[in-house]
Amino acid sequence: MTLEILRLDADRAYPPRESEFTKTFWSDLGQGRWRTTRCRACERQTFPPKPVCPHCWSAEVEWSDLGARGTLYSFTRIHAAPAVFAPEAPYACGIVDLEDGIRLACRLVEREDMPLAVGQAVEVVVLQYRDGPLFAARPCA
Ligand SMILES: [Zn+2]
Repeated sequence: MTLEILRLDADRAYPPRESEFTKTFWSDLGQGRWRTTRCRACERQTFPPKPVCPHCWSAEVEWSDLGARGTLYSFTRIHAAPAVFAPEAPYACGIVDLEDGIRLACRLVEREDMPLAVGQAVEVVVLQYRDGPLFAARPCA
């Protein structure tokens, strides 16, 4: 699944820690590729990507594509942000249920024509900062 990439002229306020294992995820994300790990033993996907399956403890995991679409399960708008995020406040964060069965928390990109609402369809997008990517969700039709 190729995600839309939104370019931002700023550095990430709190860049994610990249490990030898997760650098594949972040490198792919920077190219709009949305993937996680899937267990070869029990065939379940997990997010974030993990080198060991949390369901059956198998280390036989592989990278697998995720779909971009989901539904907004819950959200909040943060006005009193931690110091490192204060310049970006107010901003919205939410919990998204992807159609693939993955539930994740992420930043939300707001649209004037589609206000945030529980149950709203959302799509995952890439926020491409100068120093690397983050993922976010935004309302879609
Ligand atoms: Zn498993």
